[in-house]
Amino acid sequence: GCPGRLPELKGNIRVLCRLRPGTPSSLVSVEPGPGGTVTTCYRGRHRRFRLDWVFPPDASQEEVFRELEPAVLSCLRGYSVCIFTYGQTGTGKTYSMEGPPDDPGIAPRALQSLFREMGAGRPHRVTLSMVEIYNEAVRDLLAPGPPERLAVRQGPEGQGGIQVAGLTHWDVPNLETLHQVSPAASSSRSPQVPRPVPEPCTLHLVDLAGSERARKAGEAGPPRGDPDGARRLREAQTINRSLLALGGVMAALRAHRPHVPFRDSQLTRLLQPALGPGTTAVLLLQISTRPEDLGETVCSLKFAERVG
Ligand code: ADP
Ligand code: MG
Repeated sequence: GCPGRLPELKGNIRVLCRLRPGTPSSLVSVEPGPGGTVTTCYRGRHRRFRLDWVFPPDASQEEVFRELEPAVLSCLRGYSVCIFTYGQTGTGKTYSMEGPPDDPGIAPRALQSLFREMGAGRPHRVTLSMVEIYNEAVRDLLAPGPPERLAVRQGPEGQGGIQVAGLTHWDVPNLETLHQVSPAASSSRSPQVPRPVPEPCTLHLVDLAGSERARKAGEAGPPRGDPDGARRLREAQTINRSLLALGGVMAALRAHRPHVPFRDSQLTRLLQPALGPGTTAVLLLQISTRPEDLGETVCSLKFAERVG
C-alpha cells in the first residue's frame, strides 16, 4: 500500500517515468524509486532530471499500476483524475495504457481495481466513454456506426465545465460487461444512457500522440513533391497544438497562474473539468534509451520538468 501519498497528489501533477525495454545505453542512466533521477549525456552535456518516481528498466505492468492505483481509486472519493502517457512514438505509451491481452496495462487494471473497491462499498454507477482527438476533431469511438464528429461546447455560465453533445456513455454495471465495450463491438444495440446528473467525478485515461511528430514535421515544412505533405503538416501542427496546450495548461496550474489556457486545444478543453483545483493528474513519461533517440528523450524529460 501507499499510505499518506494521496493527500500530496491533490492539485498536483505527479510525473512517473518508465523506460522502453531494450539494451540500456550509457547515455541514459537511471536511479529508480521515489524522487528518482534520469541522467542523460547528450552532445557532451550531462543533465540530471528528478521525477516523482522512476521505474527500474525492467518494470512490470503490475509494478507500474501499483504506483497509479491510489490515484485511480481517489476518484471514488470525489476527485477527478487524469492519467496520461506521454513520449516519443515507440516508447511504450499504448503498451502501458492498454497492454497486450496477456499482460494488461493501466486501463484494464484500473477498471478491475475500481470494481473491486466498489464491490465493498455503497453502490456506484459506472459509465464509459471513449473519444479520439485527431486534427482537433473529437470523435466518439463508442457510437454505433462510423465514429461521429462531436461538438465540444462550453457549459452553461456559472456551472463551469464543458459539454460534448451526443457523446455515447455506456452503462457498465460490472466488469463482465466490459469486454463488450470496444469500438468493434459497437452495434445498433449499444446500451446508450443519458449522461448522469450531477456531474460525476471522472477518471480520464489519455494515450497521447507521439511527442516527436509535431516538432519534426512542423519544422521541416511540407516536403516538396510529396502529395501527402500538406496533410501531414496539418496533422503535425494540430498534434503540436494539443501537446503544447497540455504543457501550457499544466505549467500554468503548477505556477498557480490566474489564467490557465484550457481553450487552446480540444484536448485541454475536454479535460478542463478534470485538471482544475482539487484534481489529480499523473503523467507517465515513456522514454527511450537508444542513442539515436537521445534528443527526443531529453525533450520529453524537459517537458516533464516544466509540468511536474
Ligand atoms: P507507443 O504507443 O509509445 O508508440 P507502443 O506501446 O506501441 O509505443 O510500443 C512499441 C512497441 O514496443 C510495441 O511492439 C510494444 O509491444 C513494445 N513494448 C513497449 N513497451 C513494452 C514493455 N514494457 N514490455 C514489452 N514490450 C513493450
Ligand atoms: Mg501508441
